Amino acid sequence: MVIWGDYHTHTIYSSGPHNAKHATGTILENAMVAKEKGLKQIAITEHGFDHKLYGVKRKNINKMRREIEEAKKKTGIDILLGIEANFISSDGDVDLTEEDIKNLDFIIVGFHNFAKAKSLREFFKFRLPNMLNLRRKKDIRRNTLAVMKAMDKYPIDVISHPGAHMPIDFEAVGRHAIKTNTHLELNGKRILYSKEDIKKLVEMGVKFMINSDAHSKDGVGEVNNGVNFMFKYDIPHSQVANIENFPNFKNYKKG
Ligand SMILES: [Zn+2]
Ligand SMILES: [Zn+2]
Repeated sequence: MVIWGDYHTHTIYSSGPHNAKHATGTILENAMVAKEKGLKQIAITEHGFDHKLYGVKRKNINKMRREIEEAKKKTGIDILLGIEANFISSDGDVDLTEEDIKNLDFIIVGFHNFAKAKSLREFFKFRLPNMLNLRRKKDIRRNTLAVMKAMDKYPIDVISHPGAHMPIDFEAVGRHAIKTNTHLELNGKRILYSKEDIKKLVEMGVKFMINSDAHSKDGVGEVNNGVNFMFKYDIPHSQVANIENFPNFKNYKKG
């Protein structure tokens, strides 16, 4: 079995305050490791712009694109410029503008505790209950709707680590993911579907993507967590978009 590409990797552009490094690899290093491990493609997916600690800066996007072009030439690995954007409101807003979307090849969205809420109201309504890890019915309903609305509003390719820091109704999200052609991730570190959840999602025909979520060059292509989960729960290869094939992305034209 061959993983075609690892579509969730971070580099030093996910930088902290005073340039503290949240992730340690460079774009070229991530690509070199991908080549060593036999991958054909990777995506660079830094934390979204509104992540207060590790968000990529808009001014770096053009520079990253140039580095990607150089790394592609040096390694022969195809590299997508993606992002791991943040859910920032209960109404399905994420921290991307139309202009941002035009400049990116690939979009992952996840919930992260240190992303700014869209407004003070949304801080109390959406971010705080999730930071406090509240799991009341109304929290799950609100989060589920937020994810579904985001899938309608934006060309999202993958939901990263679904359910992490943000409890959702997997079945409802899965149904909407099929409708909107969105993948649910089998993340390198965090997979939260219960046995019952995954059984339902597989039966429904949800498409998954196995990624590392690497925060160092050595983490690139380390996808055993997702692969083991796939075998354990009999997820058919045909339902994992990046096995043996180039997955289809909404924004990306290969070339
Ligand atoms: Zn994440
Ligand atoms: Zn990540």
